[in-house]
Amino acid sequence: MKTVNLLCGLLGLVFYFIRAALAQDIATHGYYTEPNTGIVFYTSSEANGNITGDGEFSSVSWGGYTWGIALPENALTVNSYDYIGLIIGSLPNGTGWSGVLHGQATSAGMPNHLMLVAWPTGNGNQIATSFRFANAYLAPQIYGGSATLTQIYSEVNATNWVLVYKCTNCFIFDDPSQTSFNTSTSGGSFEQGWAQSYAPPLDPTNADSDITQHNNGMGEFQVEVASATQASYSIWASKTATVTSVTGTTSPTSTYSSRPVPTTTFDYVVVGAGAGGIPIADKLSESGKSVLLVEKGVASSARWGGTIRPSTGWLDGTNLTWFDVPGECNRIWNGGADDTSCVGCAAACTDTDQMAGCILGGGTAVNAGLWWNPNPEDWDYNFPKGWQSSDMAAAAGRVFSRIPGTDHPSLDGQLYLQSGYGVVSQGLANAGWENVVANTVPTQKNRTYAHTPYMYSHGERGGPMATYLETATARSNFHMWLNTSVERIVRTAGHATGLKVIPTNNGGYNGTIQLTPVTGRVIISAGAFGTAKLLFRSGIGPTDQLQVVQSSADGPTMINQTEWLTLPVGYNLDDHLNTDTVIAHPNISASYYNWAGSWTAPVPADETNYLTKRIGPLAQAAPDIGPMMWEEIEGPDGIVRQMQWTSRVESSNNVTAPNNNDVMTLSLYLGRGSVSRGRTTIGKGLNMVVSTIPWGNENDLAAVAIALDHMADALTTVPGLTYLYGPKASTNYSQSAPNLTGAEFLATVPLTYANIGARRSNHWLGTAKMGTDSGLLNGTAVVDTNARVFGTDNIFVVDASIFPGMPSTNPSALVVTAAERASEVILALPQNTAVEHYGQCGGSYYAGSTYCAPPYVCTYDDPEFSQCL
Ligand SMILES: Cc1cc2nc3c(=O)[nH]c(=O)nc-3n(C[C@H](O)[C@H](O)[C@H](O)COP(=O)(O)OP(=O)(O)OC[C@H]3O[C@@H](n4cnc5c(N)ncnc54)[C@H](O)[C@@H]3O)c2cc1C
Repeated sequence: MKTVNLLCGLLGLVFYFIRAALAQDIATHGYYTEPNTGIVFYTSSEANGNITGDGEFSSVSWGGYTWGIALPENALTVNSYDYIGLIIGSLPNGTGWSGVLHGQATSAGMPNHLMLVAWPTGNGNQIATSFRFANAYLAPQIYGGSATLTQIYSEVNATNWVLVYKCTNCFIFDDPSQTSFNTSTSGGSFEQGWAQSYAPPLDPTNADSDITQHNNGMGEFQVEVASATQASYSIWASKTATVTSVTGTTSPTSTYSSRPVPTTTFDYVVVGAGAGGIPIADKLSESGKSVLLVEKGVASSARWGGTIRPSTGWLDGTNLTWFDVPGECNRIWNGGADDTSCVGCAAACTDTDQMAGCILGGGTAVNAGLWWNPNPEDWDYNFPKGWQSSDMAAAAGRVFSRIPGTDHPSLDGQLYLQSGYGVVSQGLANAGWENVVANTVPTQKNRTYAHTPYMYSHGERGGPMATYLETATARSNFHMWLNTSVERIVRTAGHATGLKVIPTNNGGYNGTIQLTPVTGRVIISAGAFGTAKLLFRSGIGPTDQLQVVQSSADGPTMINQTEWLTLPVGYNLDDHLNTDTVIAHPNISASYYNWAGSWTAPVPADETNYLTKRIGPLAQAAPDIGPMMWEEIEGPDGIVRQMQWTSRVESSNNVTAPNNNDVMTLSLYLGRGSVSRGRTTIGKGLNMVVSTIPWGNENDLAAVAIALDHMADALTTVPGLTYLYGPKASTNYSQSAPNLTGAEFLATVPLTYANIGARRSNHWLGTAKMGTDSGLLNGTAVVDTNARVFGTDNIFVVDASIFPGMPSTNPSALVVTAAERASEVILALPQNTAVEHYGQCGGSYYAGSTYCAPPYVCTYDDPEFSQCL
């Protein structure tokens, strides 16, 4: 199935920035005896009702939705991977599709789970069914695992349809390209997901048909196994279909027109054109060396040939795309482009269960543009010698001279939609917090607040694409390839000689890029997940991960096991732990703005003002972010944690605005000083997942609880301000818990993978940690202080992956600063020379050249010594 558009939230947990929803069971449960078959189902239903917003975690669906299950009588003691299912789907406007997702004990997020989608074909009572799966929040592909479906009964009327089916092996996830797992019914309960759409499948008669993103609700619910077991199960399971069914089976693969890799060699190949990759490629090209920047995504900004614009045409004929207009920055969470024929319009990475930009600019193309002059303490606390604030000062100076940023992005110098800011800042001022201009006083991060600075310039996104990429492209020794993915680094011992690439879209390159012999270098800047993935596929990482790659489609061409470099890639994963609270105040509603609607139909005056003068709300980031607030809190273990609060004028967590959009979400990030770390791993389908969430240390959480209390104490000084979700929540609203302390409230917010969408901040980092304790010697570091991967002589990492810990703020400006610094240390390194016969070329403590002068080969002797023989 070709990918048609971004299904950014199908059964999943994705929201703008950190827009949150709990993985709650908000379905209504009961029993239903299906009258035509007599089968008794334990049901989970959403009532008929109007969908609001994007319909995420909706308790209603237009026309209603019901899923039912019957399990074998002994399913509590003997795992059953089969069940009899019931779907009652709706066709509120005469068409649509419905789906159920087979979850696990605590999770039913969209990625990496078996989905069953079904719809009427239009031929009498016939229903098409199709098993699918996705590795990310994108259009699912056809599933090739062992699950099968037998239809028992189906019926279609004008507004609804019913399908009774037997699902065999449906609690086993075993698509051959994926890492398999089983969901156990003997565990007592498990999560399921659902979604519905009232848009028709592209070809309803074809079970493999493309479907558009759900638009009629989605959510999760829990199945208590004891409620679903039935003594008559085996009798019912032998029933057979009364209507010819239509079932999807095949999985066509996409092919792209491509260009062969030329025979030219390159001094530097930079993998990934994001916050790290663009600046490092520019700086390296300043040296006169030949530099190739390879990016797997399509062009984003119009200045680089991007074309993704709204189908209503209001950006047609301009030099602007989705990515250039600050007010459109949350498209990434709102369905991407609405032009479903646009290949690559998803912009989000398709190979990770988290959100990241896989498009020219990486995160800096899709993010909200928050741009922070680094707090020096972020370097001093987290980084090793050579990367302390005094070492970073020159690099930071260069970054901010090129991208100064602004906290007044509208070109008339006005700030728009400020009443929400006014409400919150009043409480902070009452509590003695100080109003600062954040980027002039980067050290002042304790009980301070500010207007939000962005990397925007001239009323447009700006950032690395508008600065570093411009100067790089002006040099004849710089080259950039888009639509091209680096699949693996070709290396001999610790020396890279080339990079295997494939096209990811029409016009991409196919073949193996050759590095300049002996002296060529590779810089990996593929982001926290992309870098770990590329290292794994290149035989660099923990043995268990390299074994997964060996078992995957990569196996036959993977580097030989004797040349694996065992390093802790993927550990040390971190992200700001997010905790949302929601407040209400009558003044806030004046700041509400329909940002999602502005994609296709902006307010006419705002459209004109933006297009002609770059002024007004569309020159600001959605959804009205500010104030930003900081506090330092010492945890019980004596470590000071940096807290950052982000305010935005919109609701979250299923909180309904009591009156006229008068709500704001205040999101608390736990930053520098946090102790917890997680892990990312690779699946057999070569998709990346967060396998250990990076949060949960009790001292970290104790500090967060104190910060929640402090903020509530400050804000409740504002007359008329009410907490709807958080500590001190009002009892006036049904969705609120009464008067909790920060710690009590925090304990109610699930810290689980199922709720990762509400707890992450999309600031993932740390998976190829920089340090002096080499991972080859059981230390924690993957790269040394030259950003070079231990055990290699010419493979470097320059992106968020090298960060040992979280900074105070959103990280992109720090990633760019790290790239500036990395260019200094990498360019200062002596060039590799070929090692002569009998010379040392490897070993745990060895940091020299691993390249042997031909015809000699670097030959392993023992862990501490390899020799050119
Ligand atoms: C939705 C969202 C909002 C955010 N908001 C903010 C914000 O407002 N302010 C802020 O400071 N930070 C923000 N961030 C975080 C910030 O954007 C990231 O921390 C930063 O971009 C990370 O930089 P990076 O260089 O490590 O990776 P990225 O910027 O992610 O760049 C990696 C690039 O590598 C490419 N790539 C990956 N694998 C390959 C391969 N095998 N071959 C070729 N190319 C490859 C990708 O396509 C991508 O372009 C946000 C992030 C997201 C996702």
